[in-house]
Amino acid sequence: MKIPFSRPAIGEEEIAEVVDCLRSGWVTTGPRTAQFEKEFAAAVQAPHALAVTSATAGLHLTMLGLGLEPGDEVITTPMTWPATLNTIVLAGATPVLVDIEPETFNLDTRLVERAVTPRTRAIVPVHFAGQPCDMGALTASARAHGLRIVEDAAHALGAEHRGRPVGSLGDATVFSFHPIKNITTGEGGMITTADVALAERMQLLRFHGVERDAWKAYGRTQLPLYDVSTPGLKYNLTDLQSAIGIHQLRKLSALNAERARLTQRYDDAFRSLPALRPLGRVSYPHRHAHHLYVVRLQVEQLRIDRNAFMAAALEAGIGLGLHFTAAHELTYYRNRLGDLRSALPVATDASRRLFSLPLFPGLSDAEQDRVVDVLADTVRAHRR
Ligand SMILES: *Cc1c(COP(=O)(O)O)cnc(C)c1O
Repeated sequence: MKIPFSRPAIGEEEIAEVVDCLRSGWVTTGPRTAQFEKEFAAAVQAPHALAVTSATAGLHLTMLGLGLEPGDEVITTPMTWPATLNTIVLAGATPVLVDIEPETFNLDTRLVERAVTPRTRAIVPVHFAGQPCDMGALTASARAHGLRIVEDAAHALGAEHRGRPVGSLGDATVFSFHPIKNITTGEGGMITTADVALAERMQLLRFHGVERDAWKAYGRTQLPLYDVSTPGLKYNLTDLQSAIGIHQLRKLSALNAERARLTQRYDDAFRSLPALRPLGRVSYPHRHAHHLYVVRLQVEQLRIDRNAFMAAALEAGIGLGLHFTAAHELTYYRNRLGDLRSALPVATDASRRLFSLPLFPGLSDAEQDRVVDVLADTVRAHRR
């Protein structure tokens, strides 16, 4: 019996809506995307929501929307997917890496101010695994230095920080609907912001830099005239994808509640397996989105390293994830930013001991018990 790392939770409602969309004659960006954006904005208490083809596209649009220039610096975390850094680079700026907290793998906010220079323009925190970063501390640093905050919330749909939803906190927040994330549209993403000028710039950049909405003109008598004042991209989400998203969003609390239940079961099981240390929790009031269940392998207790441990579990049919290889260990960033291993000791150490376990609504208790058994057996077989 193989157990996948993740499986999307698609129901009959999503399927019926996609069929209706196909039959409607309008499959690209249109009324269903407008509805998805409206309902998403309401769900995270944000004034504006822009649906995009991925979180990567959303991060790219946000960086371009902020008007970053060559030489500008953006403070971010090494413990993230490459998209967070790549989009900073693609917008012409330089990522400046700050180390993470050992217990949560979130950006260590105490180190942020030290990384600020006259060229710093923005901070891009990642709410790692779905647990919100200390936005109070980040907002204070941003205010003190005139910086913008762009949250990479790819893990954090449904999370809250001191009673306020992630998506209503920073200057802009970017979510992902990749199939492993808390909700999916196949591929897709959403940007939320309260900054109307930023929202308008990103809306323009999302569709070629062309002013008009194609679907609003559709079927009307007006001429299909257009103009471009700035070159844009093609990052609009289609109605076929929004058809899925509308129903996924309605299920978000139930899906996240099941993630929380499974997380609790892992926590209970690993109390008697100290070789696998789960992450800790932040101390301020919050709601965790439980996107990932990450453990820190106590490699000192074993005769094998993390990669060999993962290979043994995979061999036994358990799908594992790796979130993440620290960005400064990746070839491009090592070449561009230099050897940061001693400057980022926590992320460097985390990077060689972490891996992620299957965590998704639809994972049965029996499957989860098997994951725990395989990991416990692997520890026993390779203990020092
Ligand atoms: C998944 C992920 C992304 C990218 O999301 P896409 O929708 O696949 O582009 C960005 N940042 C983090 C932290 C992620 O986990």
